[in-house]
Formats: sequence, structure tokens, C-alpha cells
Amino acid sequence: MNPVIPARKIPARNFQYRGKQETDLACEGVSLARLARVYGTPLYVYSATAIRERVQMFNEAFAGVRHALCYSIKANSNLSILRLLAGMGVGFDIVSGGELERARRAAKKSLRRIVFSGVGKTAAEMDAALAADILMFNVESAAEMELLEARARHLRQRAPMALRVNPDVFAETHPYISTGLHEHKFGVAMAEARALYRRAARSKHLLPVGISVHIGSQIQNAAPFGQALQRVRELVADLAAEGIRLQYIDAGGGLGISYKLEEPFDPSTLLERYAHAMRSALGDFDGELLLEPGRFLIAQAGALVAQVLYVKKNGSKTFVVTDAGMNDLIRPALYQAHHAIVPLRRNPKNQATVVDVVGPVCESGDFFARDRAMPELVAGDGVAILDAGAYGMSLSSNYNSRPRAAEVLVDGSRHTLIRRRETMRDLLAAEMLLR
Ligand SMILES: *Cc1c(COP(=O)(O)O)cnc(C)c1O
Repeated sequence: MNPVIPARKIPARNFQYRGKQETDLACEGVSLARLARVYGTPLYVYSATAIRERVQMFNEAFAGVRHALCYSIKANSNLSILRLLAGMGVGFDIVSGGELERARRAAKKSLRRIVFSGVGKTAAEMDAALAADILMFNVESAAEMELLEARARHLRQRAPMALRVNPDVFAETHPYISTGLHEHKFGVAMAEARALYRRAARSKHLLPVGISVHIGSQIQNAAPFGQALQRVRELVADLAAEGIRLQYIDAGGGLGISYKLEEPFDPSTLLERYAHAMRSALGDFDGELLLEPGRFLIAQAGALVAQVLYVKKNGSKTFVVTDAGMNDLIRPALYQAHHAIVPLRRNPKNQATVVDVVGPVCESGDFFARDRAMPELVAGDGVAILDAGAYGMSLSSNYNSRPRAAEVLVDGSRHTLIRRRETMRDLLAAEMLLR
């Protein structure tokens, strides 16, 4: 049975209970209850040290392989976090013109280390990325390749490109975040890729420099990554034999984490297996390996801090209503995702109760946990929803006209506001009142 009273140290995360009795949940050296008082709730809190550790972990796992990390901005797109990553030499994987602009603002020098993914790039987005001189476009269809060629011709440039191939590999994850089967909208079929590369190689305005693959997200097993890369490697060899030499193999992102405290796994063990599978698949490839981790770098570095507003009973059910809602963190509603929830104050005397932890939004899908054994909570208590650093704030919305949360970055004993809480003015800023 799960321990209902959380352990002092929460494994694999830079969150632990501190203070004399080890009852006060802290991110690095800073009490979360204190941050909640200073900045209010709901509040996203991130550990800078945890982010740095994950980048180092990646670089160590791939030591000896020519590689570059291109962090997937959509996982968490806060400018300060992008700047922190760029400062460590990390490039970016972007999926929109908005993300290109974020990369530019965070660190101009990172533009040269950008790969541009996504099935629906517009002409305007292509133009902006061509002007920014990014590393390469990951092209996802024949039609997109034609448009890219036309835009490059218009701008008298040669667009560096990769084809995103669909390796038809099954990776066990939630269906909404699985992308590597032919039934998904992503990439071009392996069989089609060869002809497209030949065509790109003949174009004066396209420069085929790479190949990319991304099979999905939250994958906790190294084997499908190896299989996908193996297929890509074979195509790279075939193309080289025809004189089309690709410099970059982009293996995408998708490496998962453990969201369940009761089923922990060591992130570095999975990463080692992943790196091993990649190395074997690459064989004697003499170019550069690009990696696009998102979740693995940032998910466990972040928590969503909320306050309990009410505890209510409906028949046999107990609902803990927090001031954070599905507009702040939609993963449970969207992917049936599990997030560990721990109290900001650990009290070993608290009775365990089985509760639903829900938000204030008018949707039955607005929950963070269902029938979960938790230490007893009362109105006014603080809770931390763990592993919310990825696809938390970046997927947040103003649904129910709720201003979005603030974000704080903790580094040792320092804490810095990296996004202020939205105001009523922000909420209404883009709207025009009918006269
Ligand atoms: C979303 C995405 C990623 C990052 O996925 P994670 O699961 O967060 O690592 C990388 N590459 C592409 C093309 C993506 O769409």
C-alpha cells in the first residue's frame, strides 16, 4: 500500500521536506509555503538545479557521441527557462512562429541551433525561420516541402531541411501522445521519403541536411526508440549510397518520467538504456545526433502549488477543492494523467482519507486526483501537485475567465518571479466592446 504520509525526500525531484521536524516542503532551499505567501497561488515553482542536472545527465549519457540537445519549447516555454537552457548550450525544437520569437528573445545565439517541427507550418512562419537562419526545417509532407522551396526561392535562399519520417513503430503511451504509427498525422512514410529526398537534392532552394523521427511522448521503454532509429539509419545509408549525404539524424524527444511516487524509477537508468539503444542504432554514422527532449528535462523540475479552498462531502465522496484548476494544469483531464499530490506541511499524525482533488472550473473533468488516499487536508492548507513542469503552464488557458498562474524559478536559496500572475486587465486586453 502507498505511504500516505509522504517521505521526507521525494525521489528524483529537488523537492523535499525541510525544517527542524522535516515538515516543510521546499524546492531546493526555499519553502513552498513561503513562496505561496509571497506570490500567491496557484503558483508554478521550478528548480533551476533540477533542470541543469537533467541537461548534464543527457550530455553524460551521450558522451562520445557527437550530439546536440534541442529542447522542445512546447513542454515549457517560459523565457527565463529558455535562457537558462540556452546558457548551457542547448538549442531548441520549435513548432510555431511564436516559439521562434521566444527563442529569439531568450537568446539570439540559439537561433542557429533551432529545428522547426510541426505538420502545419505557414508561409509566414517559414519566412521568419528562413530569415532567422535556423539549423533546419523538419518537413512533414510533400506539400510542405513544395511551399518551403517556394518561400526559399522567393527569399533567394536555400532552406536546410530534414524529412520527418514516420517509422511505423508502436510505442506504448497514451494514444493522444503517440505519433509514430502510419495512422498518425505526423511525418512521411519511409517509402515516400526516398523520392522526396531525391527531389530535394535536385532543388536549387532546398538543402537536405538531415532526417528526423519522433515517435511520441512519455515513453518509458528504450526499445521503440532504438527500432525507429534503426529504420532511419538504414535509410540514411541507402541515401548516402545515392550521393545524398545527411549530416544530422534528429531522434526527436519522447523520453518519459515516473509520475507515480509509488512506482519510482531512476531517470538516469532509463536515460542510459535510451542512449545505449541510440548508439547501437547509429552504428558508424559519422554525422551529428540531435535530441529533442522536452518532458524529461523539465517535468520533474516543476510543481504546481495550490491552496485548499473547501473540503466538501457528497454522500460517500469527499472533494478537496483547490484554487488551481484544469485551466492551470490540464493533463489529468486531457490524458488521464496521474500527478502525485503532497501537502506543503507534513504531519505524521494526520489521518489518511480517500478523496478527489478537484479545481473550481465548471467541468466534471476538472480534477487532479480521483479516489486518492491522501493525508487529511483542511481549508487553507497548501498542496504541491508534482511533476507539473512540462505541459503544465504551456497548456494552460483562461477558461472560465481565470487569470493564468505566476511562475517562480528557484535556484539554491534564491527565488525569482519569471512570469507574473495575470490581471483582469490582461484577461480582457485583446477584446473590443461592441458599440
Ligand atoms: C513534443 C515534441 C518533442 C518533445 O517531446 P517530449 O515527450 O516532451 O520529450 C520533441 N520533438 C517533437 C517533434 C515534438 O513534437
